[in-house]
Amino acid sequence: MKAGSGQVAVFVRFRPTANFAHGLIECLRDGKTVNIYYIKDSRRLQNSKNGLLSPLSFQMEGVLQDVSQEEVYSRVCQQVVQGALDGYNGTVMCFGQTGAGKTYTMTGSTGLYKQRGIIPRALQEVFQEVEKRTEYSFSVHLSYLEIYNETMVDLLSSVQGSSQQFSRGMVVMEEPGRGVFIRGLSLHPVHREEDALNLLFEGEMNRIIGSHAMNRNSSRSHCIFSVHIESRSRTMSDAKYVTSKLNLVDLAGSERLGKTGSEGQILKEATYINKSLSFLEQAILALADSRREHVPFRQTKLTHALKDSLGGNCNTVFVANIYGEASQIEETISTLRFASRMKCVRTDPAVNEHVDPALQIKKLQKEVQMLKEELSI
Ligand code: ADP
Ligand code: MG
Repeated sequence: MKAGSGQVAVFVRFRPTANFAHGLIECLRDGKTVNIYYIKDSRRLQNSKNGLLSPLSFQMEGVLQDVSQEEVYSRVCQQVVQGALDGYNGTVMCFGQTGAGKTYTMTGSTGLYKQRGIIPRALQEVFQEVEKRTEYSFSVHLSYLEIYNETMVDLLSSVQGSSQQFSRGMVVMEEPGRGVFIRGLSLHPVHREEDALNLLFEGEMNRIIGSHAMNRNSSRSHCIFSVHIESRSRTMSDAKYVTSKLNLVDLAGSERLGKTGSEGQILKEATYINKSLSFLEQAILALADSRREHVPFRQTKLTHALKDSLGGNCNTVFVANIYGEASQIEETISTLRFASRMKCVRTDPAVNEHVDPALQIKKLQKEVQMLKEELSI
């Protein structure tokens, strides 16, 4: 099943606030449009009705305001998960300034079942479907990668059975037939939702502990939680199998630095983040342009790691997380502008189908045997 309409789908989600900037931000009743009335120079509010100024208007797949975690999951992610179970790569990405709700949307509030985010809900759905689709045998593996200042960290390297020493020298690799993978990133087989949730929890803990140890804010890194799915028909004669990757991505805060006062570690982090987000944008825009032969994936770890999971052959959904407050309006405009550029990208997802050579040989031997028998009659 292909998700979406053959285009990158972009949603806007407002973080709830008591100080919503009515008059400055307007969400239209169509549930898809956000209008902003703001002039940078004068910082004056403009009346939408007097016709003096047309607003900045942003049209998205959907505007999520006062919407439950459950509804966010079903509108944003459910189709992508279903697609992944059918063999289509899928990526759901949250971006926006720090504090706007990316981690809340992706992971949710730990301990509060109702407030769990996209990742735990996606894991629940994956295992429910695995139970339902009895004609296939599935294998599911998880990985959890953090990218901080262009260094890759394996958030699940401390889990029993994975090799610690590898997590230091991780490299993004590409192989024909296998696609893009990260050498040294631990992959964990999971058979039940509960085991998957334990791994997610462990990864979250490692993210927090790691950032404390390095004395940095955890919102300064990108995190990619990946579900690797392989499914085979239970009929032995079928040598084909399909694979897919579902990437659930919590991007680093996109806020720009103030003009003064940033130095040292903060400046370095911001420089890396700006660079990787702008290459992410370039890569996605290049994918959209059929005349462009070269897509600059290798410029940063983020785009390289997601090379086969952005636009193109993939169901891709962005969530632009924003504040609805006047004090944050410039960052909000910048996030919405980024979102508008992303939504122009076309996608053409295809199933990742492979042939198992061992099974293929068995199948051919069987056919040869049958032909021989027919001839000898
Ligand atoms: P980010 O990851 O973008 O930096 P967070 O997800 O950590 O931001 O959100 C910042 C705070 O706001 C957290 O305390 C979070 O629980 C809260 N929050 C964000 N979005 C929502 C929401 N839609 N509903 C309730 N609380 C939210
Ligand atoms: Mg966060």
